[in-house]
Amino acid sequence: MSDILKAVKGMNDILPGSVPRKEKLPDSALWQWFEDTVRSVLARYGYQYILTPIVEPTALFVRGLGEVTDIVEKEMYSWHDAMNGDHLTLRPEATAGIVRAMVEHNALYNGPLRLWTLGPMFRHERPQKGRYRQFHQLDVEALGFPGPDVDAELILMVRRLWQELGLVVGQHVRLELNSLGQPEERNAHRAALIAYFQDHAAALDEDARRRLHSNPLRILDTKNPAMQALVEAAPKLIDFLGAESLAHFDAVRRTLDAAGLAYTINPRLVRGMDYYNLTVFEWVTDQLGSQGTVCGGGRYDGLMAQLGGKPAPAVGFGLGVERLLLLIQELGLPVPGGAPDVYAIIPDESVRPQAVATLEALRELGVSVLMHAGGGSMKAQFRRADTSGARFALVFGADEVSNGQVALKSLRDGAGAQSLQPLAAPATWAHLLQSSV
Ligand code: ATP
Ligand code: MG
Repeated sequence: MSDILKAVKGMNDILPGSVPRKEKLPDSALWQWFEDTVRSVLARYGYQYILTPIVEPTALFVRGLGEVTDIVEKEMYSWHDAMNGDHLTLRPEATAGIVRAMVEHNALYNGPLRLWTLGPMFRHERPQKGRYRQFHQLDVEALGFPGPDVDAELILMVRRLWQELGLVVGQHVRLELNSLGQPEERNAHRAALIAYFQDHAAALDEDARRRLHSNPLRILDTKNPAMQALVEAAPKLIDFLGAESLAHFDAVRRTLDAAGLAYTINPRLVRGMDYYNLTVFEWVTDQLGSQGTVCGGGRYDGLMAQLGGKPAPAVGFGLGVERLLLLIQELGLPVPGGAPDVYAIIPDESVRPQAVATLEALRELGVSVLMHAGGGSMKAQFRRADTSGARFALVFGADEVSNGQVALKSLRDGAGAQSLQPLAAPATWAHLLQSSV
């Protein structure tokens, strides 16, 4: 097939479930249900919606995320604008853009904000299951709050999202937690870490050797299996935390404990960006192979100032939509489908005007109706009705319609059961079509 008829590598169409496809990807009904659930859960915690551009100045990400990070080193789609030479980048994550918007609009002037957005992000990675070049994130940020109260609120809000989506904590997903302390504490740890890795220089891979002096903490984030044992035994940041950092961590933990949320402390959890401090967390699953992190976040009190704004504390997370929906699909969790209540069969074009009038009346009453369009035999129309997933068919036969009636047929439970209903009074039978799923 010609190249213009192929999506760019690593970038995917999200399609209705009825379209057959090779790759494993979530279908659009699952996607919409997820969006609806997110909207409902986040509203219950008072989070407000924000939209920021997909393109930002490259320098925003370089300064915000840190030069020695996977994203800035090798994953960004960046270019010089042909018109004026501006250096621009497709956003690889949402936090930097939101923080830019906060500073630009002096948005925290009237107090702190709880915000969320959902949209495409771009990273030039090797595409594989759960890892794409265009992917989507739900991104949630609480700006202007020092914590630890909102840190715990964010984590518990994600737990509620899991509950509403049918995911069981402990079985399908689990929480890992760590504290990165403050910059001074990280510096002391960093010195110990460099000394440790220097003592084991021969065991370091190329990436690690390069990062030994520029960003040794990143070495702990390695995905190289050959380095796991070395990294496991490295000095732990948590042993370098002072009383204040420990108290902050402790408060988050006590709140989660009181809410009955189990977690493990993972001292190697450092996250991929430089801007984090204090609380960091990841929600992980064991059921997606090496793409096991479905949601990750933490506190980034220094980012606002680092980007040139007035200092303000903040905490947030990003959740990978494709990864999460793949997990839900793979577990086979029940998902409210996009099937209509009724499929309308109209075997005789002469009655279409009356049929359409009835269907409009049903929709007015809240019934979802899929009308057979384009003609065809009764048999062909019934086949479409079956594949639509509708629970009922309404058959507008010419004889019934001339008697002021329509046949209502059950397609699923008690398939074949039939009754005649008055065309003139849809309000008297519409409730039959909307009974429990
Ligand atoms: P990983 O370690 O898997 O590369 P990350 O630390 O780079 O993840 P974050 O930048 O924290 O990921 O992004 C938050 C979430 O976004 C991840 O937990 C994951 O669910 C999702 N995500 C990140 N990169 C991709 C990608 N290339 N394709 C699909 N989802 C992604
Ligand atoms: Mg990554």
